[in-house]
Amino acid sequence: MGVERDEAVVILGAGLAGLSAAFHLRQAGASFGLYEREGVVGGLCRSMRRDGFTFDCTGHLMHFRRPEIKALAERLMREAGSELVAHQRRAAIFSHGVFTDYPFQANTFGLPIDVVKECLMGFIEAWGRRQQPASGRRAEPRHFGEWVLRTFGAGIAKHFMTPFNEKLWQRPLSQLGCDWGGGWLIPVPSLEEVVQGALGLANRNMGYNPSFYYPKEGGIQRYPDAFARQITTGLHLKHELTSIDLGRRVVEFQTGERVRYRHLISTLPVPELVRRAEDVPAAVRRQMAGLAHVSVTNVNLGVDRRTIVPYHWIYFPEPRFPFYRVGFPSNLSPSVAPPGQTLISVECSHRPDRAVTPDEAIEQTVSGLRQAGLLRADDRITMREVVEIPYAYVIFDRARSRILTGLSRMLRQAGVRSIGRYGAWEHSSMEDAVRQGKEAAEAILGPARSGGSGRARRTGRGSKAARSR
Ligand SMILES: Cc1cc2nc3c(=O)[nH]c(=O)nc-3n(C[C@H](O)[C@H](O)[C@H](O)COP(=O)(O)OP(=O)(O)OC[C@H]3O[C@@H](n4cnc5c(N)ncnc54)[C@H](O)[C@@H]3O)c2cc1C
Repeated sequence: MGVERDEAVVILGAGLAGLSAAFHLRQAGASFGLYEREGVVGGLCRSMRRDGFTFDCTGHLMHFRRPEIKALAERLMREAGSELVAHQRRAAIFSHGVFTDYPFQANTFGLPIDVVKECLMGFIEAWGRRQQPASGRRAEPRHFGEWVLRTFGAGIAKHFMTPFNEKLWQRPLSQLGCDWGGGWLIPVPSLEEVVQGALGLANRNMGYNPSFYYPKEGGIQRYPDAFARQITTGLHLKHELTSIDLGRRVVEFQTGERVRYRHLISTLPVPELVRRAEDVPAAVRRQMAGLAHVSVTNVNLGVDRRTIVPYHWIYFPEPRFPFYRVGFPSNLSPSVAPPGQTLISVECSHRPDRAVTPDEAIEQTVSGLRQAGLLRADDRITMREVVEIPYAYVIFDRARSRILTGLSRMLRQAGVRSIGRYGAWEHSSMEDAVRQGKEAAEAILGPARSGGSGRARRTGRGSKAARSR
């Protein structure tokens, strides 16, 4: 079958990264085709509805580090008639039978006294070693487990960091590198803060998300929808990429359509893109097995009780619980549950080939929630829905950076920009996805934001934004 259409830019995937790329190309009056496998936009930021409940692919909270992305999100939501509500985080840890404030390392008060002592003494010891002059210090930590021990000491490692992270990443911490962003995702308190937290003087505003935004109604889907309504043409839903010819720059979809492109922005998980590429050397194809990740089974439960806990979410480090985090989205946005009911969103991590069936996931979850005292024997469960997230957390190990270096060179030469959380194969947020889509569009448009050789062709409908630049 021959090529049916030519596009200046083909974008694969209408999650936030693909939508943002399309939006920014559209703003500059450039043409593109945005192709999405599903019948709706949003990717991981989709929300589903059932029996009066609205649930995300696990709770998706909007936090911003970049004012320009925040301003864009606010503007698009406003224009779409959706309201963003600011929240102060209410997060806890459940361990040793008690709830403590997040983050564990800075709020040990309330735990059994011997646990508090172990955490405190370990932290003081590790802190003391860090105060040694540079010449006396050891080399950089070899892996994440070593970083945890050196940063937090043996007690905090034993009671939270190690069991929690082993449950989340599904492997010993010695198999994880230190380059996955733990440094900014995991708050490192000062000695004073750790002592304060052990004495019951709460340290509440630590970490990257002490406050965040969430749509007032409709779940996180409102955010990708706000992008999509600005993209008036060029969006093709139910178009699954089935193969790509990198040499001839042609993509083919399950519909049978073949499209030739000048530039390609892919937001597909990079192993999925390579698997579909016809002309990739066998060695590169084999390397894809080395890009490790974990999947998440997200169990959503509706419970006929107005309030279960006051928290937005709770972390569970102990191995006796199958989940690592339990969220209460209706504590953020009451509209996601029918009046008087609570929506619980439970996250269980697993290796990609070790998923349990949805029924098993529900059974294990309900039993764990009962053990934790979050569900009572007389609670009526009004809704059960399991969402499987095959690509959830990318593993930062030694293989990752080696494989990605060669791969991105090969893709760049073929005119492919592989972006987004799974296109770049990284641990990044919604804000990063929007930024990367914007940057990919800008790189294609060129500094002058104009058409011409090697750049995206302008449509006849150049926007005001593009004309004013
Ligand atoms: C459990 C979990 C919780 C998270 N919580 C937060 C949070 O609270 N706050 C936050 O900022 N970030 C959070 N994130 C991260 C956030 O979800 C991502 O950074 C962001 O959604 C990634 O967007 P994306 O466009 O890169 O990828 P995706 O959303 O994965 O989009 C890729 C798109 O490609 C499509 N696609 C796949 N294969 C094909 C194919 N063959 N053909 C055509 N289309 C295809 C998919 O359907 C999808 O729409 C979380 C992530 C996870 C896993």
